[in-house]
Amino acid sequence: MKLLSGTDLAKQREQILAQKVKQLTSNSVRAPQLSVILVGDHVPSKIYVARKQEACARVGIQSRLIELAKDISAENLKNEIQKLNQDKNVDAILMQLPLPEHLNANEFLDAIHPDKDVDALSSQSVGRAWLGRSIVHACTPYGIMQLLARNGISVSKKIVAVIGRSNIVGKPMGQLLLAADATPIMCHSQTPNLAQVTSQADIVIVAAGKKQFFGKEFFKAGAVVIDVGIHRDSNNKICGDVNTQNLEEHISALSPVPGGVGPMTISALLENTIKLAEHNLRG
Ligand code: NAD
Repeated sequence: MKLLSGTDLAKQREQILAQKVKQLTSNSVRAPQLSVILVGDHVPSKIYVARKQEACARVGIQSRLIELAKDISAENLKNEIQKLNQDKNVDAILMQLPLPEHLNANEFLDAIHPDKDVDALSSQSVGRAWLGRSIVHACTPYGIMQLLARNGISVSKKIVAVIGRSNIVGKPMGQLLLAADATPIMCHSQTPNLAQVTSQADIVIVAAGKKQFFGKEFFKAGAVVIDVGIHRDSNNKICGDVNTQNLEEHISALSPVPGGVGPMTISALLENTIKLAEHNLRG
């Protein structure tokens, strides 16, 4: 079983992206700029945002953190987004999820201008994606496509099972696979005989948010398995949705947790910011 290291690939990608930023910056008056909106004091979100900002700094992207109180009103949050939409120096806007309970994420994702929507999660961005007119794609699924492609794993003409249908991972994953000539099978909590369905697939992308739940019986011999889940095990170590016991001899490749999809999500965020900057600076 080959381990598909996102950590190594993201490092390689950063060198290429840093070159792109250098080029872009020398041709214009400023570096690409990402603004990150963080509402409240959700600790994991703070850690994710810090990692994203560190990655931006490594490739020369300017990042700005807008920290807002957890009891901010819907109107004030919309105003903050409007300010960023109108600011010519802002290329990309990321709203870190989840938002506090009194705020409906969809409403605010839709307030982000589609040409600055770095995670491509607004209604307009999703529509553009399905119609093949996107500037950028949702970060986690796009990072997974990169991880597969750059490990020489083509999805074209393959049966690919996606477990999970969230707006952030499962649905945009299905769209990207379809666009790349795969045949996606979208699975979810109501799918009957799940293991029977997924064990027909050449590639299985597991994004159910169920700690170490998916074992050998879900995968056919020789399958490629991408584990999107992030959890803490009983020893407080980070683990995924996949139960890796007895998989070594059974499947052909696995993305590890940690060090698989996570770093590729950040890499996709950097790439998307640069693409939006290129688009916006072109006018
Ligand atoms: P979510 O809770 O929004 O969606 C989970 C989906 O899985 C749902 O569509 C549900 O129908 C399906 N599901 C739940 N239980 C199932 C079961 N037993 N069998 C089949 N399907 C089932 O979750 P999400 O936001 O898509 O995230 C999924 C996981 O991926 C979480 O662990 C999350 O932390 C992780 N995640 C990781 C990254 C990353 O960058 N590595 C990014 C986003 C999410």
